[in-house]
Amino acid sequence: MTAGRARSRRLGMTTVVVALAIGVGGTATTATAATPGTTATAAATAAPSSATAAEKVDYETWQRDVRAIIDEQARPYIEERTANPSGQKQAIVLDIDNTSLETDFRFALPQHPVEPVLKLSQYAHERGVAIFFVTARPGIISWPTEWNLEQVGYSVAGLYVRHLPDLFQNVADYKTAKRAEIEKNGYTIIANIGNSATDISGGHAEKSFKLPDYDGQLS
Ligand SMILES: [Mg+2]
Repeated sequence: MTAGRARSRRLGMTTVVVALAIGVGGTATTATAATPGTTATAAATAAPSSATAAEKVDYETWQRDVRAIIDEQARPYIEERTANPSGQKQAIVLDIDNTSLETDFRFALPQHPVEPVLKLSQYAHERGVAIFFVTARPGIISWPTEWNLEQVGYSVAGLYVRHLPDLFQNVADYKTAKRAEIEKNGYTIIANIGNSATDISGGHAEKSFKLPDYDGQLS
């Protein structure tokens, strides 16, 4: 896959999703609020191990690399971390594009989930963990994004999209601020999972897991 193709796929999907948003109208952003809570920091980043060239980003390679991190690193950690929550309101924060949904790989509505991430989120949710989504997607596609996530099986405790003031902030700072907001609402973010460096820098999570973006080729 070339970078050009990846870009055009993203553009195509964005166009469809925006069209859907305009067609159905309205936006809905949720973020549950509660009492102030603890702030957890320190990130242990699991780096992808393989391909960097655009033409090497094929679906099977990507899936294998995602599974290596989610199934072999994130899952054992979540199992252990959720075994005894000690009264904490635990949360996981997920990026959306190419972390929760297969945005750059399949053209479909609803967009397909990234299966290993979906399964991990469902497991965590069953153990009482709230699943929050923090995305750079614009507010205009908030409603179809939430619909998409729920349609393919995600539990959505809160969805943070970028509204007008957020567009003037760099993505890493915006995402970090939203994680801080989730913590302020009383949650302990036990894991933050994303595929871009801007998803996981800035702390405000006990542990971070970096899925591959192959040098920025995946959004
Ligand atoms: Mg992404």
